[in-house]
Amino acid sequence: MTAASELVERVRSAVNPERLLRTAFALMEVHSPTCSAGPAADRLEEVLKADGFEVERPEAGAPQSKALACRWSTGKPGRTLQFNGHLDTVHLPFVPPRVEDGILHGTGASDMKGGIAASIEAMRVVRDLGLISGGGLLLTAHDFHEAPWGDGRQVDRLIEAGYFGDAVLLPEYLCDRLPVVGRGLAVLTVEITRTGQPVHEVMGGIEQPNVIFAGADLVRRMQALDQRLLSTADPAAGRASCFVGKVASGEIYNQSPTRFELSGTRRWLPGTNPTEVEQEFRTMLSDVAAASGTRVDGIFQLIRDAFRLPETHPILDAFQAATIAVTGRPLPTGPKPFVDDGNTFCALASIPAITHGPNATGAHTVNEQVPVDELVRVAQVYALTAAGFCG
Ligand SMILES: [Zn+2]
Repeated sequence: MTAASELVERVRSAVNPERLLRTAFALMEVHSPTCSAGPAADRLEEVLKADGFEVERPEAGAPQSKALACRWSTGKPGRTLQFNGHLDTVHLPFVPPRVEDGILHGTGASDMKGGIAASIEAMRVVRDLGLISGGGLLLTAHDFHEAPWGDGRQVDRLIEAGYFGDAVLLPEYLCDRLPVVGRGLAVLTVEITRTGQPVHEVMGGIEQPNVIFAGADLVRRMQALDQRLLSTADPAAGRASCFVGKVASGEIYNQSPTRFELSGTRRWLPGTNPTEVEQEFRTMLSDVAAASGTRVDGIFQLIRDAFRLPETHPILDAFQAATIAVTGRPLPTGPKPFVDDGNTFCALASIPAITHGPNATGAHTVNEQVPVDELVRVAQVYALTAAGFCG
């Protein structure tokens, strides 16, 4: 047996599915919708301390919902590999954890307490097997991830406060590719209003500024922008876009309404300045207001910036080597279809961050499911990535 395959066998037998599941249950039993994830972090602190890890609880901008950081170091020179996860879940009815036929069900199973539990299992294995001889590990877990309730601010504050490693792994539910590029995202919300009350069309209604016509003008401008963005296609990331997902206005056919609402998204490619994207949006709104005599208010909620990983980096080599060791083949590179905190590490701090987690389903539904085998696989890949990366 070669040294490499011996290492893989040691990791395979050290990753303990029962212990991993106990950790997942501990985190999932505590309901933690976005902005209220503090109690889940408290539970994670208990789990880690029981395992002999040292835990910090940085406020990171939210004293009522402190984040968690756990550093474990060999005390010798080398790189630090960071595992980062969010403990908050989307605002849907709580589903308690259960395992059936090898599948973990419940709120947070897919997004992303299951993945966090896999990272913790990897930390235990790295420490207990002495897998690295230099550098160390850093686990960060936080709140305020899920939009629209959260806006990623706590991970921003963690990075500003120095809680980052030399590379990051994020166990979100993406596993069929190595995401090397991703678009930025802002959620757009627009409200077009006129002064006065709703009024019958023939009792002065047609003399009022028409908020629906103004809204239609805005929709056409957004469509024209989206058409122009067709030419921005990036071979890996796809294209920039301007999308309308919802419009609403009016009460009955012959009443002049006072309000029109629109919401949608704007996505952009790496290399685009989000401030300029917002400026373009603001100009569009003021042009519509000037042309229609209405008032147009808009919110440009920046969710995450775009990112592109470097072409070569030790974390890419270590991650692919670990993937080959566990599954027999490397992952193809591709785009990240959603935005996540990995975008933030890359864009804000130039730290390469790889989103890779279990083959889980049902994120953002009440039917989250993840095979336990997948959590075990992620723990193995994470532990072996640390072995190849840290030193
Ligand atoms: Zn998530």
